Amino acid sequence: MTDLVLVLGDQLSPDLASLRQTAPGEADILMVEAISETGYVWHHRKKIALVLSAMRHFAAELEATGRRVVYHRLDQARPCTSFTDAVERALAEGAYKRIILTESGEWRLRKEFEGWRDRFDVPVVIVEDDRFICSHDRFHRWAEGRKQLRMEYFYREMRRETDLLMDGDKPAGGRWNYDADNRKPADADLFMPRPHAVEPDAVTQSVIALVASRFPDGFGDIEPFRFAVTRVGAEAALDHFIDTALADFGHYQDAMLAGEAFLYHSLLSAYINIGLLDPLAVCHRVEAAWRAGRAPLNAAEGFIRQIIGWREYVRGIYWREGPDYVRRNALKATRPLPEFYWTGETDMACLAATIDQTRREAYAHHIQRLMVTGTFAMIAGIDPHAVHEWYLAVYIDAFEWVEAPNVIGMSQFADGGLLASKPYAASGAYIDRMSDYCSGCRFNVKDKTGPDSCPFNSLYWDFLDRNADTLRGNPRLGPVYRNWDRMSDDKRQAYRDRARDVLDTL
Ligand code: FAD
Repeated sequence: MTDLVLVLGDQLSPDLASLRQTAPGEADILMVEAISETGYVWHHRKKIALVLSAMRHFAAELEATGRRVVYHRLDQARPCTSFTDAVERALAEGAYKRIILTESGEWRLRKEFEGWRDRFDVPVVIVEDDRFICSHDRFHRWAEGRKQLRMEYFYREMRRETDLLMDGDKPAGGRWNYDADNRKPADADLFMPRPHAVEPDAVTQSVIALVASRFPDGFGDIEPFRFAVTRVGAEAALDHFIDTALADFGHYQDAMLAGEAFLYHSLLSAYINIGLLDPLAVCHRVEAAWRAGRAPLNAAEGFIRQIIGWREYVRGIYWREGPDYVRRNALKATRPLPEFYWTGETDMACLAATIDQTRREAYAHHIQRLMVTGTFAMIAGIDPHAVHEWYLAVYIDAFEWVEAPNVIGMSQFADGGLLASKPYAASGAYIDRMSDYCSGCRFNVKDKTGPDSCPFNSLYWDFLDRNADTLRGNPRLGPVYRNWDRMSDDKRQAYRDRARDVLDTL
């Protein structure tokens, strides 16, 4: 009897822990384009196409190494409704010794898979996903007993453990973090790098046609589709980033420009998240580029911190906090998500640009997600669960373990400050400083409370006012509340009135 190894759509790594448990000939590999997975949120159509095409390519690569793959397509006569359905079919058709799988990246599937231990008569072996730098156990040991789980301290431990950017036991250059050098606004530049683009092959083209016909009303543009769908393609995207953008990644990490969706960002998150690139190997490549003099230290450090710091840290938080984390709502926000989050139809130029780009590309960079769509939702008092579902749907790289802490914790402060030491609330001035959106906006960013004033300005103060009971005690907000307290009653009321008008239009 052989084993049955289930490989999920974000587990497309040849040295996946579950694949290492068996040799070719000892196991059938089960891969499933399950209906349940395309529909649990209103996924961007590019995201569905990326995962399906990458799965089909990965299955072919496994077969080329002598593995037998049982592959269920979404467009077969009777597609599988779920992974459970697929395993039931496999067990009905063949006798298997064990079902083996690598743990999933979300609580929803973890529950389904753990239920198989009672459901099936065959032993179910779930192995840890060791494509991460920090194991569950390691994160628990780090977090245990700490009052605050600050990313910066976690990151330093990861630097020491990976030996990335270290000179002996000291951080390269003498500092752990070069973020102070990384907050420059950018100017439109004809020589700005262009994203790596891959011409869709026959497999990808047929997946695009499938997604277009099956999800005619799905979110987002399916074409043009330029993502890589194989390991080789993703490695070419990494080379392209190092050659064209890494050197300026640090300086312009927080910058936003109306006509530029990508600036100096890497666009590698989806490839790393579905397993086409290994996060540690990516960091080694970036460190090597710095050591070879091809990028400054602030760029290499900033980039590596995002991966061995933020990416690992948010994963630790996700599993530590449990399945109810996505329901946290520390600020008791209840307003429904405005329709313009799906259509992009708003006069606020920053939101229109970010959402329009999200619809077209399934991509927005970190500061757009955090300080435009994220900040607006938080200061407008939108229900954080609705915000979470939106982010989980619309981005090419959205998988719950990484999306939820970024949204619930970092951007919405809905976990009450577990992840962020203060809410990322800001008035229009921040967006004006870091972008060119405001110059083309119908609202006036300099106007605080008038009928044409930038909505961020009044919502910012109204948010602080509405949530004063919860936030006033936060030491990092002390100076802000002192400013609010120093304002005249009339001025404070003008902010409240203008905020009410803005909220009424949502
Ligand atoms: P770059 O700017 O080039 O950064 C390099 C890499 O660092 C990324 O590829 C990514 O792997 C990693 N990284 C950077 N920031 C983070 C972070 N905060 N958390 C985890 N990894 C990070 N990232 C996702 O992968 N999936 C998500 O669903 C997701 N949702 C987010 C939601 C919000 C509200 C916010 C504020 C951030 C979110 N992020 C998410 C993190 C970050 O925005 C994306 O990883 C990044 O924009 C991807 O683009 P890039 O590959 O060009 O990144």
